[in-house]
Amino acid sequence: MKTGVIFELTRFATHDGAGLRSTLFLKGCPLSCPWCQNPEGIPPEPLLWHNPKVCLQCGRCVAVCPTGALTLTDRIHVNREACTCCGSCVDACPAAAMSISGQTVTAREAADMLLRDQVFFGPDGGVTLSGGEVLSQWQFAREVLDLCKQAGADTAVETCLLAPQSAVEAMLPVADHFLVDIKFMDPDLHRSCLGAENHQILENYQFLISRGADVLVRTPLIPGYTATEDNIRAIARYLHQTDPNVRYELLNFNPLCRSKYDALEEDYPVQGGALSAAEMDSFYDILVQEGISQIIKE
Ligand code: SF4
Ligand code: SF4
Repeated sequence: MKTGVIFELTRFATHDGAGLRSTLFLKGCPLSCPWCQNPEGIPPEPLLWHNPKVCLQCGRCVAVCPTGALTLTDRIHVNREACTCCGSCVDACPAAAMSISGQTVTAREAADMLLRDQVFFGPDGGVTLSGGEVLSQWQFAREVLDLCKQAGADTAVETCLLAPQSAVEAMLPVADHFLVDIKFMDPDLHRSCLGAENHQILENYQFLISRGADVLVRTPLIPGYTATEDNIRAIARYLHQTDPNVRYELLNFNPLCRSKYDALEEDYPVQGGALSAAEMDSFYDILVQEGISQIIKE
């Protein structure tokens, strides 16, 4: 049985597909979106997580760390190159300010976590795999969703589609729905902002459409990045040309993840907050102008 690395389970989720869902987040992502809502999900390996808001600054973690990865000055600082994620500081902390984000589980264990609330899913809900990028662990993901389908659950995958086409094809028999993020049309912007080109993503999207998969496309509206008229118009035009019946959702920016970047001692580059209703409406107008008729609103 395959094993995979996960970092979070959300129960009773309402934004990861239709109905009430359990969502499991898998680690590892080939993109490096500056606005990522789950930065702890980008590295494939486990990551030490320090919460300065509850830290007592007692120094016990510093004393027990076998590699000297921690220092206490104005706050606890973590040298991530020295940290081996041994967990000693987690055990020593009296305030639960330390934790390891990332846990290796078998596909059976992952499926059992997802199916625990199956009785509450109802006719529309089910299970969703998210990340990180699910397809970076596609063999594990495939096995998890296969087990969930055998148990009668509806299954969905949230993905950026940056993966070999064989990985996407392997998910077709086990994923009832694909929630696909398309962030930029301009390949140069895609590469400079996200660290990879988008041609594989677009090829995989066209492959899913050619195979008749149930696809919802989503674009996060990030101020200073994706939330421009040119970008949204280009994506909408491409989507409509590829599939005139495309379902398309614009996701408003959610700045709540800033505290995660504080915890990781990293700067968060996105300025401003969520878009206003009027700003959202102006983007919806663009979709209508480009012929999108199935606009999904949050
Ligand atoms: S997880 Fe282990 S190596 Fe990393 S900071 Fe804590 S005690 Fe040190
Ligand atoms: S042991 Fe916990 S509470 Fe004490 S300094 Fe370390 S992280 Fe903070």
